[in-house]
Amino acid sequence: MPKRLSLFHDAHRIYADAFVADAERHVNSAVAGITISAAFASATMYSSGHHLEVIAWFVAVAAIGLARVLLLRPGLRGTGEISAIAKCKSLVILALANGVVWGLGGFAAATVATPGQFFMISILLSGMMGASAMSYGAIAMPVPAFVVPAGLGFLAVWVAFPDAPLATGSIATIAYVAVLIRGAFSNERSFIAKLRAEERATDSAETVRLLMNDFTEQASDWLWEIDGGLRIVNPSDRFIHVAGREGLQLSGKAFLDLFDETSERRQLESELRNRRVFRKLTLPLTISGKRRWWALSARPCEANGGFRGVASDVTAQREAEARINHMAHYDALTNLANRYLFNASLDHALNRLLDRHRICVLYLDLDQFKGINDTLGHAVGDALLREVGKRLENTLNGRGLVARLGGDEFAVLLQDENLDHVAMTIAHRIMENLRDPYVIEGSEICIGTSIGVAFADPQGPSASDLMKHADLALYRAKELGRGKVVVFESALVEFALARRELEMDLRTALTDGDLRLHFQPLMDLQTNKILGYEALVRWHHPERGLILPDEFIPLAEQTGLIVELGEWVIREAAATARLLPGELTISINLSPAQLRSSQLLATVVSAVAHAGIAPSRLELEITEGVFLEDSEDCMRILRELRTFGVRIALDDFGTGYSSFGYLRRFPFNTIKIDRSFVAELRESDDCRRIVRAISDLAHGMGMSVTAEGIEDVSQLSMLRDLGCEVGQGFLLGKPMPFQLQMGKSLQTG
Ligand code: C2E
Ligand code: MG
Ligand code: MG
Repeated sequence: MPKRLSLFHDAHRIYADAFVADAERHVNSAVAGITISAAFASATMYSSGHHLEVIAWFVAVAAIGLARVLLLRPGLRGTGEISAIAKCKSLVILALANGVVWGLGGFAAATVATPGQFFMISILLSGMMGASAMSYGAIAMPVPAFVVPAGLGFLAVWVAFPDAPLATGSIATIAYVAVLIRGAFSNERSFIAKLRAEERATDSAETVRLLMNDFTEQASDWLWEIDGGLRIVNPSDRFIHVAGREGLQLSGKAFLDLFDETSERRQLESELRNRRVFRKLTLPLTISGKRRWWALSARPCEANGGFRGVASDVTAQREAEARINHMAHYDALTNLANRYLFNASLDHALNRLLDRHRICVLYLDLDQFKGINDTLGHAVGDALLREVGKRLENTLNGRGLVARLGGDEFAVLLQDENLDHVAMTIAHRIMENLRDPYVIEGSEICIGTSIGVAFADPQGPSASDLMKHADLALYRAKELGRGKVVVFESALVEFALARRELEMDLRTALTDGDLRLHFQPLMDLQTNKILGYEALVRWHHPERGLILPDEFIPLAEQTGLIVELGEWVIREAAATARLLPGELTISINLSPAQLRSSQLLATVVSAVAHAGIAPSRLELEITEGVFLEDSEDCMRILRELRTFGVRIALDDFGTGYSSFGYLRRFPFNTIKIDRSFVAELRESDDCRRIVRAISDLAHGMGMSVTAEGIEDVSQLSMLRDLGCEVGQGFLLGKPMPFQLQMGKSLQTG
């Protein structure tokens, strides 16, 4: 469809209002100017004698002017509102009418006027055209509508009267018309360009405003502004909301008063007073009774002499940081300081130690804690540790730092002038307080503690040495038996060194063949026949002579050498069993550490195979200590050994913790009653009753009972009466090398 020819293009329609408004501004002065010019022209022509025509012409000009004023009257209503574009169109029509009237008037004047009069009218008309070009305002179309017919009138004069000077005036007029039209359109273009630029500017301002709203409503940040007196100016809705106040309460309020009186607030005040830019300054404040943290960044604002900035609520972040910090320094279970904080505090205290002051570390370890954890479960173990932590804190009552270093190890840091006496009093009080029974989940639990104590003064030792000293003292306390307090002394270092030396020697003993097995007979108490022998390891030290297992087995266990040592014992014992007549058995002692080694089963199987004996000719003796270890794995290995066919005995029965429970956890072949019961048989009714109970229980469960440490005949006969079928002891035969043992049995046999 062909596009309809139109006077106006899109820009006119879009900016019609602006065009009309511009035209409105000029209309009164323009119409007044035109009317006055027409009056002059009429007055000039009046003398030509054509009065009626002159008056009619003037009336026409005035009427068109009036119509224009009425058209552009602001808020013109008629039957309905006239649209701006319709007004523009009407304006063009009026301009055209005006031009026609002036053109006709000019031509008519030329026919009757004297050259002087016509010159006068020409000048008036040129001025009119120039003025009118501007009088329509920014809209261009009325200008050609007016100046073209008006100019044509003059052109007609030139055509009709070709002789100068009128012709010259006409040509000048035509050039003038062209310039005016061009100027009008260029004026219109720049007007439209200006409007567009304004529009873009408002557009982007609006976008910014929308974005700002979004920003303040959705983001966790908000903007704030304060004046030169540090008072809040124009708080945004979000600012008011997060501050938990009414808008009026916040506006004009002293900014600093929002924040809690802290060093951070003093820093903020200093930044503001010195008009410095600052970034991410974090301050605490209290809103509705709750402490919150805001991070502020701002720069001085020249416009109001104050500051403008952005703030965000970083409370959650602060709290997370605080939690992480707490976790890094405190033990999650007991909420006591952890090893890290304890060491840091110790360093700090040592660095700032005053003359004559001392520092003391108490290093604690619960006795038999593992047994509780294993038998009563980890939940009870945890509850016990928490309870121990509480008792420690109550005992210290703020006089020192209590820490849990891990597992069942605790430490206390003390600092004072006359510390020696104080520290020992506290250590013993701790010992007593921790010894009181605990009731956890309905069960009553008793637990002891061993404590190592070490001191430092400004001269030394260093923090790490101090901890080593306390550790050595604790080790010694455990060695001396449980429930002891030992103060570090330099002899303990020598002791530790000697142990270190012994450890090295033990390594070489294994390779140099300095270990030997002695054998002690096990005897049937009814028939007095030897049933087998227990293999007991001995160390022939090249310098120190014979060393008994009680001295080096614990060392081998601590250093892990026990696995290698145990393997040697197993092979040696199995090889010896092969030399024994008939069904005689060999008993082998196992350490808990050996049961933890995945090698054990393979070692036993290969030793048995190598010796070419029935597996049942070996009996492995374990102690209750096994149950204090990671018992599930140990139990599995024990079951596998039993399935293979070796016998399993529970050694030293009755000395450990919660003994009877263990009998239900594994089907032992033999129970060996500890020699401490045998030693007291004569004196103690209780002992006799216990031995009777053990043997009844064991027989009931299909286990045989061996009594250890039989040293005299009365013990022997009592044990027979109490139902023990097997006996072992110096009375029946001392441990000795195999050859000697064989020689003896040949003699006695
Ligand atoms: P145990 O398994 O209870 O061995 C019995 C201990 O009691 C032996 O001490 C033995 O000499 C001693 N004994 C035997 N009859 C009597 C007596 O009538 N009166 C007294 N007072 N003592 C008697 P020994 O040989 O010093 O061994 C001590 C402990 O060392 C053993 O106790 C055992 O637990 C451990 N042990 C010995 N050899 C080995 C080994 O090859 N491997 C492991 N892991 N431990 C071993
Ligand atoms: Mg034994
Ligand atoms: Mg024993």
